[in-house]
Amino acid sequence: NRTNSKDQANQLKVTYDMIGGLNSQLKEIREIIELPLKQPELFKSYGIPPPRGVLLYGPPGTGKTMIARAVANEVGAYVSVINGPEIISKFYGETEARLRQIFAEATLRHPSIIFIDELDALCPKREGAQNEVEKRVVASLLTLMDGIGSEGSEGQVLVLGATNRPHALDAALRRPGRFDKEIEIGVPNAQDRLDILQKLLRRVPHLLTESELLHLANSAHGYVGADLKALCNEAETFCILQCRLQKMTANSSHHCVCPFLLHPEVSAVKT
Ligand code: ATP
Repeated sequence: NRTNSKDQANQLKVTYDMIGGLNSQLKEIREIIELPLKQPELFKSYGIPPPRGVLLYGPPGTGKTMIARAVANEVGAYVSVINGPEIISKFYGETEARLRQIFAEATLRHPSIIFIDELDALCPKREGAQNEVEKRVVASLLTLMDGIGSEGSEGQVLVLGATNRPHALDAALRRPGRFDKEIEIGVPNAQDRLDILQKLLRRVPHLLTESELLHLANSAHGYVGADLKALCNEAETFCILQCRLQKMTANSSHHCVCPFLLHPEVSAVKT
């Protein structure tokens, strides 16, 4: 399903400084996406066609959706979010009609970003497509992307796609003029993991020292951002439960000191 307003995207309030370990990718994304959306006339004056589509690819949980939300927040653009598997409808022509409607609305309300998560579910290779619906949807998306800018909104509508399986996409989608920029959002290394942990814990009161964090980052080989987030959540929950237990067994003014992660301030959390 799609969220249909900029307000909804802003509510999520993801900003670039919350994203860890992806500095070079973020720099590239900002250059490719922000400039044309903010200054389309620059591209026009040089006769350069602004990008219509950018593809973020990489394993699950590495931050692709987060990036899309941050970009949308940052540029203040109208955002439509499409989830590949969810928009597919069995009813004849319904998926294409919904796509047309989303593109039409995005054009009307430019500058706008159409974010398509799990793009591979929506646009698999046509030769291997399971049914006619898939083939029609791919053709429809190609036509819609080719039509971007035809109503004077050149450079003001951008499709941001995310996938774990770039090779499963229909090849025509990856041709110039469609998703012509591809950016890999890969598995973080130890340094990136440290950066992600620092960002995840920025608003969490904790007692971990720099060297303890470094040790944690070094020993979490193979963890992606979503795994590190889950780890922090689990530690936080553990601490809150510990504090609650201590509060129940001590008098109410007792300050909880969780040995694991969180600062005594956590005792202020309503339990
Ligand atoms: P999928 O391919 O499964 O859709 P994804 O790459 O889109 O995954 P996200 O949904 O962006 O991954 O990440 C899930 C959560 O993991 C985020 O909401 C965030 O809390 C955390 N996370 C992931 N990557 C990062 C990162 N680089 N920095 C900080 N937090 C991250």
